[in-house]
Amino acid sequence: MTSRPLDCWLTERMQWPPGVAPSSGQVRRWQLARLREIVAHARHTSPFYAAHLADVDAPAIRTTDDFSRLPLLTAEAVCNAPEQLLCVSRDEIARVVTLHSSGTTGPAKRIFHTPDDMEATVDFFRWGMAAMIGHGQTALVLMPGQRPGGVGQLLVQALARAGARAVPHGEMTRAGDAIDQMIGEKADCLVGPAAHVNMVAREWEARGLPRGRIRSVLLCWDAAPDAVVRNVGRVFGCQVFRHWGMIETGLGGAVECAPGSGMHLRETDVYLEIVDPATAAPLPDGEFGEMVVTTPLRRGMPLIRYRTGDMGRILPSACPCGSPLRLLDPFIRRMGDGARIGTGTLTLAELGEALYALPGLRDFAAWHAPRTLKIRACGDAKTLEQSVRSALRSIPVIEQAVAANRLDIVIETTSDDAPAVPGLGKRRLQPLGSTTE
Ligand SMILES: [Zn+2]
Repeated sequence: MTSRPLDCWLTERMQWPPGVAPSSGQVRRWQLARLREIVAHARHTSPFYAAHLADVDAPAIRTTDDFSRLPLLTAEAVCNAPEQLLCVSRDEIARVVTLHSSGTTGPAKRIFHTPDDMEATVDFFRWGMAAMIGHGQTALVLMPGQRPGGVGQLLVQALARAGARAVPHGEMTRAGDAIDQMIGEKADCLVGPAAHVNMVAREWEARGLPRGRIRSVLLCWDAAPDAVVRNVGRVFGCQVFRHWGMIETGLGGAVECAPGSGMHLRETDVYLEIVDPATAAPLPDGEFGEMVVTTPLRRGMPLIRYRTGDMGRILPSACPCGSPLRLLDPFIRRMGDGARIGTGTLTLAELGEALYALPGLRDFAAWHAPRTLKIRACGDAKTLEQSVRSALRSIPVIEQAVAANRLDIVIETTSDDAPAVPGLGKRRLQPLGSTTE
């Protein structure tokens, strides 16, 4: 029997005979059978899918290429009539999550979860975190913990099954408070969004706290820049793992089995395709494209070929750990997340790599206009403004625009202990003059 935690999870979830983990070919054949089933189920039970998939004959889906010819599902369709996507009665829904996407005025997206959906996520979290935390250990979670079915609660349940403890801290508003609680709870592990975990690491360093006390860190919820992974690993002297997930797919999506491994996809529950965003043609492993997801085991509100609006890629190589689960590159970004600066495009990811690498910087927020880039930088260093400016000019698109006199850089510095962007929403490069400024 294999000892890899994700294999334990996979064999259980696939109801595979215990002993030897399935091969990647066996996983793929199993997935295809479940994809056929969910298409048939959705077409017969949901008013939306009955029309959307009216021309589809589920038994005729014999290959993943056949599946990739099914029509795509847009976020607009989900926003417009979420109840029409339901395949079960409303009584069977245990939790509804409403998602407001920033910058749009249309209806909010509502996602329905059954008890089985939440149980499946708890199970994935339990095994997905087995490399990070063990029996008798404690994780501090920089997320809210009160909502039943919310991330904090699901992690509490997941770690309890492994004999470990998750303590939800709530949304982090001051890094110092998080550290006080980490020390008070004797935390071995820290879980949270990259920007918040980075602030905690900076504060940990400023207080002269020791390396080695925190055994592992899991960065989740939002993009995790490499610069943050490096900072956090260096300050705590620990392993740093990354996770990708979406509320639409029930949170758990992919997780690293070892630092830098690439994220193992939760293949049973989230079937991922990468497509050309313009033509919707499937792209081979290794190429970046739009992430399209299907949830083969969600019987309540399945998503079939849902356009996520995120760009990512599947790594072409297998993981050294030998798992049959494909690997998702942790570099995932929002489509259209970029600002026209001079003659090029600047992304939040580029800013993140340049600015989080600065030793004196705790956090930052960024806004843009055609001729202006405004940065709010939090940190204590007297030379913060100067170092932010030179880091910005190390980004070619900024340097070219400044040299051509087409861009003004405005830098505001603060020694604030609070995150530069309030709230837990995914971070964006915002237009100048937006309400967040
Ligand atoms: Zn692996």
